[in-house]
Amino acid sequence: MKKNKKLKCPICGKQILKTKEYVPFCSKKCGDIDLLKWLNGKYFVTEDKGI
Ligand SMILES: [Zn+2]
Repeated sequence: MKKNKKLKCPICGKQILKTKEYVPFCSKKCGDIDLLKWLNGKYFVTEDKGI
């Protein structure tokens, strides 16, 4: 049995190659998407509290 570390991008599900720059994402694009999700979530919480 092989025990290779197969990283999968949490955004698009693609297998991540040796691109340490964007780990744990496959690309900068997916990293940005995750960041936006996080920022949006934080923003929504703040907005909800404001109302
Ligand atoms: Zn991706």
